[in-house]
Amino acid sequence: MHTNLSIPDIIRKQRDFFQTGETKSIDFRLAQLKTLKQAVIEHTQLILEALQADLKKPEFEAYATEVLVYKEIDSAIKDIKNWTQPKKAPVSLDFFPASARIYPEPLGVVLIISPWNYPLQLIISPLVGAIAAGNCAILKPSELAPHTSRVLTEIISKSFDPAYITVLEGGVETSQQLLAEKFDHIFFTGGTAVGKIVMEAAAKHLTPVTLELGGKSPCIVDDDINLEQTARRITWGKFLNAGQTCIAPDYLLVDKKIKDNLLAGIQKCLKEFYGDNPATSPDYARIINQKHFDRLVNLLKDGKIIVGGESNSSESYIAPTVIDKVSSADAVMQEEIFGPILPVIEYTDIGEAIALINSRPKPLALYLFSQNKNLQKQVCQQTSSGGVCINHTIIQFGVSSLPFGGVGESGIGSYHGKASFDTFSHYKSVLHKPFLLDVKWLYPPYKGKLSLLKRILG
Ligand code: NAD
Repeated sequence: MHTNLSIPDIIRKQRDFFQTGETKSIDFRLAQLKTLKQAVIEHTQLILEALQADLKKPEFEAYATEVLVYKEIDSAIKDIKNWTQPKKAPVSLDFFPASARIYPEPLGVVLIISPWNYPLQLIISPLVGAIAAGNCAILKPSELAPHTSRVLTEIISKSFDPAYITVLEGGVETSQQLLAEKFDHIFFTGGTAVGKIVMEAAAKHLTPVTLELGGKSPCIVDDDINLEQTARRITWGKFLNAGQTCIAPDYLLVDKKIKDNLLAGIQKCLKEFYGDNPATSPDYARIINQKHFDRLVNLLKDGKIIVGGESNSSESYIAPTVIDKVSSADAVMQEEIFGPILPVIEYTDIGEAIALINSRPKPLALYLFSQNKNLQKQVCQQTSSGGVCINHTIIQFGVSSLPFGGVGESGIGSYHGKASFDTFSHYKSVLHKPFLLDVKWLYPPYKGKLSLLKRILG
């Protein structure tokens, strides 16, 4: 599409378009959001096929976690009038007469870089915020999900003028060329290592960043639970998309008293979900590529495999695997797993679980299964994470009133719903003074005025 245009030219065209002010009109933004929703819906079949080709993503999962991204568009369409309203701010009497308002304004031309695991949703969802806030956008999908990247390009190129929104497909090189340019915001979803590269490049232009990163999200299981539901909810959240979910429970911290029962429950769920041989299940995804396959197979060496462990390189298949008797020093506990391997560590006192979590980088998500209100409070108060979900997994991502993002090494900033609009907006403070009164003693010469100032304002 842009074969004859260089990256700086594309950005220039977008800057020119932004300068026309067209994107600032709320009607324009609404129309674009509706166009985007329509395009996603019309391309549903192609999206499902592309996700099948890239990840063997089961149709149900692909629909629920990717196509349904248009729910995020619905929420923006419904709330944009409210979000874009200037908000009145109080002004103290010292400034009388005066009024103050805070106006959200678009940032300009933004860059959105996304990963391969939810390759449609993780680019469309931030785009919704960028559009709602009135920006132009360049999208850089992951080269590791090439089929979805192509469908995305089709959706965007059919729906929008490239001077407004465009896709630049490509790998690390494309990403690096983009990062060399100045943007008004960079929204990056991916791993912590690349997040650091993005932030370093952005710093050269003082470009603000949102970094949606990963990490090891712990899942604590107390003994005060509904065992059957706990097992089902953990099994679903862990093995959805074959574990390649940024907020998948990475490892279990289980109360010793309940561990054997819980692991038996998870085994039972695996059978119910994927049958005796998950390799033949249409409901179980594949590992994205050989590099990740090899990395994951290497993690199968620690502890004692109690279920799974099988793999098939030519099929990019790794069975849903649960590993017991893992120690926090094992390789599987050193990096984000991002695959269908669930290590289990037992504790006798919740203090041990909390100490282990706090000895590590702050996770993106923290899961706690417990009906004990005091324990819920204790874990929330004594740990830090991007978010917490109590007694379920993953679903917090879908609640658009909850800003989604990390803290510390799991990320900077947040999005979803209003938070997406905020991320792509600048809140401009405007103070308005009428000519009604002018307090002269404010101006030089100051001689003899300091004591008055102290009396009035001090
Ligand atoms: P990644 O960091 O390897 O790649 C993400 C994007 O960055 C891709 O578009 C890629 O082309 C680009 N990129 C890769 N190397 C680069 C470099 N050296 N310079 C510039 N750009 C580069 O991540 P991934 O493997 O695609 O995704 C997996 C990671 O993403 C996991 O850590 C996961 O937790 C995280 N993730 C986070 C969220 C979230 O919402 N917080 C969601 C999904 C995935």
